[in-house]
Amino acid sequence: MATPLIAGNWKMHMTINQAASLVLKIRDAIKGVHDVEVVVAPPFTALHHINYLLAETPIQLCGQDVFWEKNGAYTGELSPEMLKDVGCHYVIIGHSERRQHFHETDENVNKKLLASLKEGLKPILCVGESLEQRESGKAISIIRKQVAEGLKNVSHGHMKDVVVAYEPIWAIGTGKTAKPEQAEDIHNGIRELLYDMFNLEAVKETRLIYGGSVKANNIDDIMAQPNIDGVLVGGASLSAEEFARIVRFEKT
Ligand code: PEP
Repeated sequence: MATPLIAGNWKMHMTINQAASLVLKIRDAIKGVHDVEVVVAPPFTALHHINYLLAETPIQLCGQDVFWEKNGAYTGELSPEMLKDVGCHYVIIGHSERRQHFHETDENVNKKLLASLKEGLKPILCVGESLEQRESGKAISIIRKQVAEGLKNVSHGHMKDVVVAYEPIWAIGTGKTAKPEQAEDIHNGIRELLYDMFNLEAVKETRLIYGGSVKANNIDDIMAQPNIDGVLVGGASLSAEEFARIVRFEKT
């Protein structure tokens, strides 16, 4: 089995000082944890300082978004090279909040993903359906489309660095979690699609993680599913205690 990945998305929270204090608490609270990859995605303003604080720790840094061009007249944007330069190993791409508020399309998502892989950044591709899409029975077809278009033209060799995060929009920040079996079902669908698009060998290390109101009190059930390789955590990653318990999930 691939090493589980536990990623915290801090979204637009935390000044530099607050971020520093949180990451140091997380560092201390997860001391001694092995065989789990721990990643945090602070706001861009805190990346440089957090990178310095995380030196000599196993916690890895993640960007919350990226632009696909290398450099140029793109006011407000950051390139994959800039994220690497500030210490990021991962980058979140296509989060539903970006698709919703900033009108990101699958085509934009694909360009960001390809540019990131080219630069050696590991993309966390977020996909997920709305409540309306789920209730009308379209969840899996919507997700298959997002995955297929997001991963267009990715080489077989790059698939080991790709993480797909299934995040049902109706479960993000709402306190509603997909039932572990519902998430497992979608993960199975994504896994089958990956086998069709690539091959077994290419995607055997590709991790499929779940996101949507993951908390200390539901992590063990989520991680008990055979096709869930980790979690992307929003709100609960802002508490060191809660996040540390998620990192220390109980293996069953
Ligand atoms: C997220 O933002 O990716 C997320 C899953 O948020 P939350 O855990 O707060 O639902």
